[in-house]
Amino acid sequence: MIKQITPNIWQLSFKTFSSCVYVVKNLEPILIDTGSKEVESELLKNLKELYIEPEDITSIILTHNHYDHNGNLNLFQNAKIYSFINTKEIEKSFPDFKVLSTPGHSHDSICILYEDVLFSGDTIFDKNHNYIGRTDLPESNPKAMKQSLEKLKNLKYKILCPGHLI
Ligand SMILES: [Zn+2]
Repeated sequence: MIKQITPNIWQLSFKTFSSCVYVVKNLEPILIDTGSKEVESELLKNLKELYIEPEDITSIILTHNHYDHNGNLNLFQNAKIYSFINTKEIEKSFPDFKVLSTPGHSHDSICILYEDVLFSGDTIFDKNHNYIGRTDLPESNPKAMKQSLEKLKNLKYKILCPGHLI
């Protein structure tokens, strides 16, 4: 399903289990996460409806490296992949994007602030933090999650774009 969030942000969500995929139409379209492999055909179809071919995508930002977020990287051969390991480069390439390290759900979780929109991956699923990412996974760190939530509490933004819909 395609939902337009702002004049230049679209949220793609799927029938099968997967993260949401966000399309940010900057100068060139940027993807935030790519969903799980199971939704490949639905993802391609949705992108086509937005007049985007896989080769048009030159940048992908991953909120973290879980299979339901990174499953379709191989479709985008022209894309540079940005993640936890090169956050400085994200801010350099896209000065409007501010990257926050928010470990807890996974050690490599990041949130991305873009204008008044927060892309929160699996860190938080609602603005009030009633729904947060799992911290019972082997790579989770509940204590780090607490600190990350504290960090997000003080952040000013209007629209939340979470990794999964509640
Ligand atoms: Zn995850």
